[in-house]
Amino acid sequence: MGEVPVALVTGCSTGIGLHTALRLAQAGYRVIATMRDTTRKVDLLEAARSAGLEIEIRALDVADASSIDVCIAEVIAAHGGVDLLINNAGAGLVASIEQTSDDALRRIMEVNFFGVWNTVKAVIPHMRAAGSGRVITVTSIGGLVGQPFNDAYCASKFAVEGFMESFAPLALTMGIRLSVVAPGPVNSAFVANVRSTSRDAAAAMAPPYDRMLDRYNELSNQTFAGMGQTPDEIAQIIVDLSCADDPAFRVLTAPMVGATVSAKASDPTGSGLIRSFAQVLGA
Ligand code: NAP
Repeated sequence: MGEVPVALVTGCSTGIGLHTALRLAQAGYRVIATMRDTTRKVDLLEAARSAGLEIEIRALDVADASSIDVCIAEVIAAHGGVDLLINNAGAGLVASIEQTSDDALRRIMEVNFFGVWNTVKAVIPHMRAAGSGRVITVTSIGGLVGQPFNDAYCASKFAVEGFMESFAPLALTMGIRLSVVAPGPVNSAFVANVRSTSRDAAAAMAPPYDRMLDRYNELSNQTFAGMGQTPDEIAQIIVDLSCADDPAFRVLTAPMVGATVSAKASDPTGSGLIRSFAQVLGA
């Protein structure tokens, strides 16, 4: 690690990524804030300027492997390495299997799973050569517990959890620490973005799904209103983990995430949670 550690964050145009970039800069990192469309840098740069922070913006589309490779190569050439990678970029879809088009499914997997896989693949050789590095990936409660109408999203986040947990022991032997941060509801632009990208799926809803989707949306609205964290709270958790001497592999960002994960773990058959979801949505 150089004198000023280099942190690269994906998906910094809004939400958790934007706040993480700011908080990492405050914590003393040289921050490379990446986004797929750099014309969307204005909010981040404005916030950085008013806080007196310097942030470097670079283009990186996690759904495009060559964009990842080019960006990482340029950052390594300019700064000598990446000490900390934050995989934050993500996309959601509210739909069950019958309303999920092949294109929508592939898009979710490209962003949430292949995006993380390819970005990690691009930085690991450099971290291995340096004998140190950290990778923090924002997963979700939906990467640990399946949720109705999140079939593709949960599949992609479960895949990321499985990848991270599988690679973590090997990485540890190379001095590289991997962590996952699993939030529950966060009041970012995520829900509005998901609803807009789920418009086709919503239009394809027919009985028996439509009534259950209404109930799901009602419960989801209540959960976000009552329990939603702010993007900045999640950013602070990510920065605390980045700076920890002995970072945990997994951080659940709120008590409701821990309670849901415990409810799942207490019933290895998995049937209890499935019945209660069915009861709530089917009632
Ligand atoms: P957000 O405000 O919608 O941010 C998502 C970010 O990902 C945006 O900057 C978006 O950029 C970026 N992104 C999407 N596709 C991309 C691509 N192909 N390449 C690069 N960037 C891309 O939502 P958020 O809440 O901050 O979400 C951040 C992470 O938290 C995601 O991984 C999400 O799954 C996870 N999470 C969120 C919640 C929640 O309730 N909000 C809960 C659990 C986990 P554009 O502006 O260009 O679209």
